Amino acid sequence: MTNTTEQTDVLICGSGSAGLCAALWLSRYGINYKILEKRDGPLKMGQADGVQTRTVELFDSFNIAEDLLKDSYHVLELAFWNSNQAGGIRRSHYAPDKETALSHQPHVILNQARLNEIMVEAINRTGEIPIEYGVEVRSVEVDEEAANDPDAYCVHVKAAKDGVERTIAAKYVLGCDGAHSVVRKSLGFKMLGDSSDAVWGVMDVYPRTNFPDIRKKAVINSEAGNLIIIPREGDALVRFYIELPAGTVVKDVNKESLQKQAQLIFQPYTMEVAETAWWSAYVIGQRRADFFTKAHRVFLTGDACHTHSPKAGQGMNVSLQDGYNIGWKLGAVLNKQAPPSLLETYVSERQSTATELIDFDRYFTKLFSSKWRQENGISSEQFAEAFVKAGRYTAGQAVKYGESAITSYNKETEKLAPNVDVGMRFPTAQVMRFSDAKAMQLIKALPSICRWYVLVFAGDITDSAAAARLDKIATGLQAMAEELTPVGADPDSLIDPVLVLSGKRTVVEQEQIPEYFTPVTGKWGMKNLHKVFFDDESYNDGHGHAYECYGVDPALGAMIIVRPDQYVAKITQVDDVNGVADFFRGFLNPVGRPKLNGKHE
Ligand SMILES: Cc1cc2nc3c(=O)[nH]c(=O)nc-3n(C[C@H](O)[C@H](O)[C@H](O)COP(=O)(O)OP(=O)(O)OC[C@H]3O[C@@H](n4cnc5c(N)ncnc54)[C@H](O)[C@@H]3O)c2cc1C
Repeated sequence: MTNTTEQTDVLICGSGSAGLCAALWLSRYGINYKILEKRDGPLKMGQADGVQTRTVELFDSFNIAEDLLKDSYHVLELAFWNSNQAGGIRRSHYAPDKETALSHQPHVILNQARLNEIMVEAINRTGEIPIEYGVEVRSVEVDEEAANDPDAYCVHVKAAKDGVERTIAAKYVLGCDGAHSVVRKSLGFKMLGDSSDAVWGVMDVYPRTNFPDIRKKAVINSEAGNLIIIPREGDALVRFYIELPAGTVVKDVNKESLQKQAQLIFQPYTMEVAETAWWSAYVIGQRRADFFTKAHRVFLTGDACHTHSPKAGQGMNVSLQDGYNIGWKLGAVLNKQAPPSLLETYVSERQSTATELIDFDRYFTKLFSSKWRQENGISSEQFAEAFVKAGRYTAGQAVKYGESAITSYNKETEKLAPNVDVGMRFPTAQVMRFSDAKAMQLIKALPSICRWYVLVFAGDITDSAAAARLDKIATGLQAMAEELTPVGADPDSLIDPVLVLSGKRTVVEQEQIPEYFTPVTGKWGMKNLHKVFFDDESYNDGHGHAYECYGVDPALGAMIIVRPDQYVAKITQVDDVNGVADFFRGFLNPVGRPKLNGKHE
């Protein structure tokens, strides 16, 4: 029985990592959306658990990293174990889990259910999450003619609960429904890629063992097979990933066979499993959907459009990043800040990320295969070295988005900040907040609150020429913000200025800072003093040397545009106000204000 048609601006199919991350943005943008989830309630346990540094940064940008960090296991060291040629295993060496420069955040382990819960809690703080459990999406259809009207509810989704089917009409639909995506199948899209799937067993156990590295992330390559140890949150639970022999069929795997395989790999160490909290066996091929969108009205995310092995711990992280990428863009389009063409960048950015991920996973999978290592003469030392080298990738820090309306490359001006990469996430450095002498990471000034950021590295304004230059920049940027920001909104609500000065903080007074950087905002109409920073020595936390970290010469300065998702959009001369204004005009909708050059829209 098919029931009435209801409407929503965005319909999210599936409440996994990708769906919830997109929902978090939509709640922040105040968008009308709904989530349909076929499970009866939230995920309780199991699935992924590796949280890359980039994912911790993402949670931090939403101001929800504290719970994540408090609850999780922190991965600091890797232990590599090999066959000892006598039927047992021996430790070859230890290695640090991440390069210090990779991120100021740690790599942690926390079960996916808790990660999902943290996102749900954050959404609930802005209003109750509009999620319906026990509803199965059955089909999705786009009325492509109607899709020409940006306001049309042109996507029709059939879903059923307790046998009662209904149709929901949406402007946009997100297929966040996992590897067996009904949304993808319904659109006729295919998964392309390798068919020779390896079977992996995974189990969360309480082990009784004399193996010395049981509380470290460890990779064991023994004659009996490969096993990865992932210590889990709390002090007791441990996860084992076990690669099962070629030809293994998932339905033949059971808890006992996994335990037996683990015991063989750990020999001569004892491995008694006191309890298995969760286990699963699953086949993951390296596959990517042939299309990520239908008419730019339905978008696939996460496992629905890419699957790969769990070795590099990418699945949940990349899926979160998909949701993070599409979420803010949908918010900006539905709030009429940007035209629907902005959504095309979701496909160009995340499709290439998925392709790179699958290529990386193929390489990583080979690396784990004892047969491939033997055939290619890869020693255990070379294996360990390659594993550590892959760290930037596995930390989620290698993603680089290509040229588009929202990512603008220029080899010449990029030399002004050579340690910052356009298309990559903005790196952080310690600075001191001018208003309260707080030493803090600059990235904290760029939270995920639906804003673009313009960072002005204006040098030392105790120098009168630098001060005069800053005044001029501020006047130009203020005119740009007035042109592009909707009437009645706070002046920093769309394009948020961040000023980073060099030199001594204590010899500069507030009145030397142009007012554009301390805008009057909020319900009390107060001056916002949280946007001005100095690259200076702090009382208790040393000197961050931010200019040096970014490679910015204080005499030359630089201006850097950062997207709402913390990726670098453009690096230009510090006084290139017109270039910055043109960049924003290139994709933001006009709001009917006079342009900088005096002409009207
Ligand atoms: C059983 C299992 C074990 C895994 N184990 C690991 C692991 O050990 N390590 C690792 O790194 N990765 C693991 N993964 C992969 C990792 O969990 C995924 O890469 C990640 O969850 C992908 O996020 P997602 O949001 O795309 O999909 P998911 O997190 O799978 O979320 C999809 C959601 O959609 C819902 N859904 C599906 N179909 C419908 C429908 N028709 N209507 C409504 N709702 C629907 C599902 O119930 C689910 O809640 C595992 C995945 C699974 C399924």
